[in-house]
Amino acid sequence: MRVLKILIDKFGEDWKTKDPFKVLITTILSQRTKDANTRKASKALFGEYPKGEDVAKAGTDDIEKLIRPAGFYHVKARNIKEVSRIIVEKYGGKVPDNMKELLELPGVGRKTAGIVLVAGFDKPAIPVDVHVHRVSNRLGWADTKTPEKTEQELTEALPKKYWKDVNLTLVRFGQKVCLSRKPKCGECPVSSYCHYYKNKKVGEK
Ligand code: SF4
Repeated sequence: MRVLKILIDKFGEDWKTKDPFKVLITTILSQRTKDANTRKASKALFGEYPKGEDVAKAGTDDIEKLIRPAGFYHVKARNIKEVSRIIVEKYGGKVPDNMKELLELPGVGRKTAGIVLVAGFDKPAIPVDVHVHRVSNRLGWADTKTPEKTEQELTEALPKKYWKDVNLTLVRFGQKVCLSRKPKCGECPVSSYCHYYKNKKVGEK
C-alpha cells in the first residue's frame, strides 16, 4: 500500500464528520455538476431550510428555485423533498447509517451512499466517482469499465483502514495531477508504480 500512502500524504485531507443530512442533500445536488454550482445551491437551500423537516415541508417549486444553479433542478428538487420526507417520517429525522437503507432513498446510488457513510458517519466505504474510477484503473488497482466494478475491486484490494481516505485523496489527485485528458505524469509522485505510465513508455520505445 506504499502508493496509496504516498498519495494520502500528498493529496489527502484532514476532515471532520459533518451533519449526515447536509452531506446527503449536498451530494444529491452535486450529481452531474461542478463544485462551485453545488456550493451555491446548497448554501441557498440550507439558508432557507436548514433541517430535514424544513425541507420536507417546503414547496417543490421553492426548492427548485433555490437549487437551480446545480442543474437538473426539477429531478433533484423532487428527490430532495422525497428523501427529506422519508427521513422525517420513516427514520424520525435521522439519516440511516447503512448502505442498504441509503440505497432505498430516491436519487441515491452507491457513490452518494458511500459519501454519506464516510463524511457523515465516519464509516468505511469507497465512493467511486469519475476521478476514482480513472485513477484506480490507470494505477492498476482495478481493471474495470464501470465505477460499480471499480468499487468492488478496490474494496477487495485495499485494507479497510484506508477506505475512508481513498475518495478524497484520488479526487484531489485526479483534479490536480492525473487529469482525464492530459495526465501530468512528469510531475506524478507515483509514476514508477503506474501501469498506464509503464505501458505508455513501452509504447514510446
Ligand atoms: Fe496518472 Fe500519469 Fe501518475 Fe499514472 S503516472 S497515476 S497516469 S499522472
